[in-house]
Parts: sequence; C-alpha cells; structure tokens
Amino acid sequence: MTYVIVGSCIKDDSCIEVCPVDCIHPRVGSPDFESVEQLYIDPVECIDCDACVEACPVDAIFPESELPARHEHARGLNERFFAEQSTVERTAR
Ligand code: SF4
Ligand code: SF4
Repeated sequence: MTYVIVGSCIKDDSCIEVCPVDCIHPRVGSPDFESVEQLYIDPVECIDCDACVEACPVDAIFPESELPARHEHARGLNERFFAEQSTVERTAR
C-alpha cells in the first residue's frame, strides 16, 4: 500500500516537511516544482507512516486503499509522474 495525493493539493510543502524518507516530489526549488499542479508520493520509497496525512491542511492525501472514487484518476497521475521521472533519469545518463 502507499499514499496518493489528489488534485486539491495546494503545494504548500507541509507534507514534505514531515515525511521521514523524503519521498514526496517535486521538491520546492526543483525545476519542475512550479509547473506541476500538485505533489506526488513515490510509492516505492513511501513507508506508509501516515505523517503526511496528518500534516496536510486540505486533506489531499489518502491511503491508496481508501482513495475516494471521485479521486480515482489521481492514482494514474501519480504513477505517470514517477514513470516520467525515471525516463528523464535514464535519458540523462
Ligand atoms: S506516508 Fe509517510 S513515508 Fe509515505 S509519503 Fe506520507 S509521510 Fe512520507
Ligand atoms: S500538505 Fe497537502 S496541500 Fe500541502 S503540499 Fe502536501 S499534499 Fe499538497
């Protein structure tokens, strides 16, 4: 299981500050931070600690298994973000 951020994210950075494994991207100051509409959780790195859920001021983070149907598309957006990231990293090598 992992956690999924949905479109109501306001990119205020609260979850990044509390995540113990730094698996929420993009980071403030990184090249793509301004262009993304929301942040995303790396499902491989996430340790399911729940800290980000508590920290989010707009309740935009859900355990994947409890993702409301109206936010179902967020699951695909999250997967696509990290798929594109790995493509960029491979291309950069
Ligand atoms: S559940 Fe924990 S490890 Fe996973 S993104 Fe949230 S704060 Fe980070
Ligand atoms: S705490 Fe919530 S609103 Fe803030 S960046 Fe994280 S997911 Fe988005």
